[in-house]
Amino acid sequence: MEKRSQVYAGKAKSVYTTDHADFMVMEFRNDTSAFDGQKLAQLDRKGMVNNKFNAFIMTHLEAAGVPTHFEKLLCDTESLVKCLKMIPLECVVRNVAAGSITRRLGIPEGTDLSPPTFELFLKNDELHDPMVNEYHVRSFGWAEDKHVEQMKVLTFKVNDVLKALFDDAGMILVDYKLEFGLFHGDVVLGDEISPDGCRIWDRETREKLDKDRFRQDLGNVIEAYEQVGNRLGIVF
Ligand code: 5GP
Repeated sequence: MEKRSQVYAGKAKSVYTTDHADFMVMEFRNDTSAFDGQKLAQLDRKGMVNNKFNAFIMTHLEAAGVPTHFEKLLCDTESLVKCLKMIPLECVVRNVAAGSITRRLGIPEGTDLSPPTFELFLKNDELHDPMVNEYHVRSFGWAEDKHVEQMKVLTFKVNDVLKALFDDAGMILVDYKLEFGLFHGDVVLGDEISPDGCRIWDRETREKLDKDRFRQDLGNVIEAYEQVGNRLGIVF
């Protein structure tokens, strides 16, 4: 398939059309951002690490029955993906309290959440991705009820699959954000799954091995991402 023109450049990835209307090329860049783009950096190897990390996770999820947009790795920093009509919502599941829920609800970081929480956020940088509920989604027509239901079911299925995957490698999947889109009318997991959009802690030491290392200036950001990948058996 031939890569053509760039159609979108986000904070960490760029998307290109191909000569087939159903497929796009997703490029993972070294650009790293936090706090709605207020903190920016270039981190060596990040594009390659996240591309391969995402490929591994998406392939694992697809094998477990979660439909994903991932088709195949094209090179170190690019993957072929299905062209989705994205739903402008972020689905967040939390197994352990960290990040915004600790500030919003005063829950101490590290509190186990059982059952896990499910939250919806509107994907809108200018509004800082506000939390919304299913009534907002319905009133403003951001997604159909049946699609929200499928997103919820798939988001929890991802939790079952990935919690076990990380647990087997001595890590805790603290929380994560998923984005979905429609492919010929079906709900399909899109965007990426990498330590940029998940919180992952070492099970014994509770050391942070994700983007909080960047947000909180803990250092060794990509080394931590690589450590997570290596523990899952990913070869970078
Ligand atoms: P929080 O609401 O605590 O900031 O984020 C919850 C989880 O979703 C974290 O794993 C965080 O990395 C992820 N997340 C939330 N919003 C975004 C976003 O806009 N981009 C990325 N990459 N991850 C996000």
